[in-house]
Amino acid sequence: MAENYDVIVIGSGPGGYIAAIRAAQLGLKTAVVEREHLAGICSNWGCIPTKALLRSAEVLHYAQHPASYGIKIEGAVTPDLKAIVARSRGIAERMNGGVGFLMKKNKVDVIWGEAKLTKPGEIVVGKSTKPAVQPQAPLPKNTKGEGTYTAKHIIIATGARPRALPGIEPDGKLIWTYFEAMKPEEMPKSLLVMGSGAIGIEFASFYRTMGVDVTVVEVMPNVMPVEDAEISNIAKKQFEKQGMKIHLEAKVTKVEKGANSITAHVEMKDGKIEKITADRMISAVGVQGNIENLGLETLGIKTDRGCIVIDGYGKTNVAGVYAIGDVAGPPMLAHKAEHEAVICVEKIASLPNVHPMDKLKIPGCTYCHPQVASVGLTEAKAKAEGREIRVGRFPFVANGKAIALGEDQGLVKTIFDKKTGELLGAHMVGAEVTELIQGFVVAMNLETTEEDLMHTIFPHPTISETMKESVLDAYGRALNA
Ligand SMILES: Cc1cc2nc3c(=O)[nH]c(=O)nc-3n(C[C@H](O)[C@H](O)[C@H](O)COP(=O)(O)OP(=O)(O)OC[C@H]3O[C@@H](n4cnc5c(N)ncnc54)[C@H](O)[C@@H]3O)c2cc1C
Repeated sequence: MAENYDVIVIGSGPGGYIAAIRAAQLGLKTAVVEREHLAGICSNWGCIPTKALLRSAEVLHYAQHPASYGIKIEGAVTPDLKAIVARSRGIAERMNGGVGFLMKKNKVDVIWGEAKLTKPGEIVVGKSTKPAVQPQAPLPKNTKGEGTYTAKHIIIATGARPRALPGIEPDGKLIWTYFEAMKPEEMPKSLLVMGSGAIGIEFASFYRTMGVDVTVVEVMPNVMPVEDAEISNIAKKQFEKQGMKIHLEAKVTKVEKGANSITAHVEMKDGKIEKITADRMISAVGVQGNIENLGLETLGIKTDRGCIVIDGYGKTNVAGVYAIGDVAGPPMLAHKAEHEAVICVEKIASLPNVHPMDKLKIPGCTYCHPQVASVGLTEAKAKAEGREIRVGRFPFVANGKAIALGEDQGLVKTIFDKKTGELLGAHMVGAEVTELIQGFVVAMNLETTEEDLMHTIFPHPTISETMKESVLDAYGRALNA
């Protein structure tokens, strides 16, 4: 007889493993099915290994500019690519081992293999069609295998994979996705990055710091197109100062492959075609949900533009089946997946006061140099909504800590509703802003007004003081600029 659970989660990324832990905490008998690597894309091929690479880039950057800090380093400082990649891959393995430990600790059964829904309340787990490339740390001892399993509630958390443009499909050799870009065997001399969203720009930043000649082609009018245009422009100027070439409102229309290089035909803003040759190209044009071979059609589960359609609590149109994380649509971010997981499971357990997902309060961070972070409405979106707003700005160049750190390029921009003083959005570019943004996320979540923020004491000297000054500036009261 099939083993029965209260909750089965398909996929063990940040959506899946967090859903499993929360379900177990609430006393539900829970299993998580995984076909490739515990901890999903985030820890194995996404958030964490990229940050490991970017940390190596940061160390290299400082080591190559010691004189700015009064330090002498004799001889050349050069990156050791093999060691940089090995460090990043080692960290990925440590992360997937950590999720194995958490499953065991929380008494969540791990089922190893590929799951498919066969009817409501039932899945069949078969052999994985996607063998792992990243080493998996030893799995918990009682890990189960192929077979039929049943559960009252099935949560789909199968994540996403790189999207490909027709005719410009990644081949893993000359045209890379994030998988190949994460573990290069040799450093290319030149690189074309197609797409300047968070993934594209983080790789562009990493490779540029490593000394690679990087060109970015973006179809939209700004780099990191979801960000506030003013912040994007500041970041773009910094990238260009570092030697990156950036083409906006430009489109790769065709790629010719040579023996060890590509030539991209790029349609520029003025309609002219420019040929750009590079050793390698990264296709970073977004991701698409893993909705195939899951039995969605058999059960009649609705999808839209490659993702499963859900309500604010993760419910699909079929009773007892839920979806969370990347497979349930944008923004495709790990913290969105985790939060959706908790909401979904708490609703399943009928906890009181479960709030549906509020997508406006999901922060976004890009770990390029300089970093970019934001939450809420951009200035353009607030205006498009017809809101009357007050905008505050405070530059890093007027912040003592930023100057002391040698990181005086940046800006904090805040947007308030003119009538109510409600904080509608915050946008930042500069050092450490990915750590700072959370202050504004908490503020927005508590429906804070300008007054609460002005009465908050920020420690000195910190870069966080730029946050308070930006608020003061929105009301004509900035003190240090
Ligand atoms: C290069 C890169 C950098 C990123 N950086 C960040 C960042 O800095 N911050 C951030 O918030 N987000 C980042 N992301 C996005 C983040 O990785 C995803 O949003 C997050 O992993 C989504 O979590 P998930 O649980 O929905 O899916 P995933 O993490 O994709 O996990 C899904 C899991 O399901 C498994 N699976 C799929 N189908 C089946 C099946 N049929 N049976 C069993 N198992 C199955 C897969 O093997 C996988 O392990 C980045 C992504 C990339 C690619």
